[in-house]
Amino acid sequence: MSEVKEQGVIAGAENDSENLLVVRNLKKYFPIKSSFFKMTVGNVKAVDGVSFSIKRGTTMGLVGESGCGKSTTGRTILRLQEKTEGEVIFDGQDIFKLSKEELRKLRPRIQIIFQDPYSSLSPRLPIGEIIGEAVREHNIVPKEEIDDYITRVMEACGLQEWHKNRYPHEFSGGQRQRICIARALALNPEFILCDEPVSALDVSIQAQIINLLRDLQKQFGLTYLFISHDLSVVEHISDTVGVMYLGNMVEYSETEKIYSKPLHPYTMALFSAIPVPDPDYKMNRIVLQGSIPSPANPPSGCKFHTRCEKCMEICKTVSPEMREVEPGHFCACHLYDPDLDKTATSADTAKTEEKPADKTPDKEIAIEKETAGKESAKEKPADDPSKKDNGKSKGKKK
Ligand code: SF4
Repeated sequence: MSEVKEQGVIAGAENDSENLLVVRNLKKYFPIKSSFFKMTVGNVKAVDGVSFSIKRGTTMGLVGESGCGKSTTGRTILRLQEKTEGEVIFDGQDIFKLSKEELRKLRPRIQIIFQDPYSSLSPRLPIGEIIGEAVREHNIVPKEEIDDYITRVMEACGLQEWHKNRYPHEFSGGQRQRICIARALALNPEFILCDEPVSALDVSIQAQIINLLRDLQKQFGLTYLFISHDLSVVEHISDTVGVMYLGNMVEYSETEKIYSKPLHPYTMALFSAIPVPDPDYKMNRIVLQGSIPSPANPPSGCKFHTRCEKCMEICKTVSPEMREVEPGHFCACHLYDPDLDKTATSADTAKTEEKPADKTPDKEIAIEKETAGKESAKEKPADDPSKKDNGKSKGKKK
């Protein structure tokens, strides 16, 4: 382990002209009301202190299980819902401090592409009208140029001019997503939140949409926050990746670093599920026991401790800080706390005591004593082309 530097938030989550978006300690709680008197009796902590930044013209992927708070983070960043705490700085402006009028002016610069293209398009409007509506509203181009402008935007997204007079139900899923991208692009945005944009599409169409997003990024210098649970897609499109678990970010790094050497036990388990297109390759799958705990009543200490095979005594009571374990690679886990005496606090024994003896040999969880990087290096021969499984899958999958 290289030098360990303690970080309250991820480095770079500061006002920097290179960063288009900076999110600091963002929290979004949904109150739980009692049936009598409608009093608040608790909170669903959907987002519980998330910090990161995105450089201009780059893509950050946000991954995690369903219900970990990815989409809530995205929607709160766009101020589609109010925050509970924290800051969202877009191009130097705190989005939550803007007046209604200032926010309205900012809206065209920040766009969103939803998961389900069909439900996000009005079935009563033809495509030309759907794309042109906001262009007129925000005076993006002079009135007399709107028609030509819409044609150009549609063509940039792989649509034809004659599609303008057709309705959403006349298109396939992939074409509908192209329409949604064209609608977002027509407002000349700088930042696009892509909330599971390809999850509802066939695999072949997914590749087309991902390539379209990449082409548009190069052409227009767009910045993306790409939310997805498809790790292969995220690897393909992202420059940096953040992993979320139960409302917190547990790991953050450049895509190559995090995919080749994940540090957090949760990330290791998540990445071990990425399929490798090689029938001879033996998957070393880490299957997590139990389900994700309720965000209304999250576990104390490290929220992952109820499912973590490396859990130590300290994990049950003390929440781990986000630390820079390697340059640019951040992880919130006590395993990387240089001050922690792991031999004294190791819960290997505690775990063995807690679990019935006959359960241990059957369990599929294979988190080893060392990090995953060391583990794969040990198990595979040096000349084995599958030595670096993620690197391999990367080459074949794309
Ligand atoms: Fe596991 Fe402890 Fe690290 Fe949490 S802090 S991921 S429980 S080792």
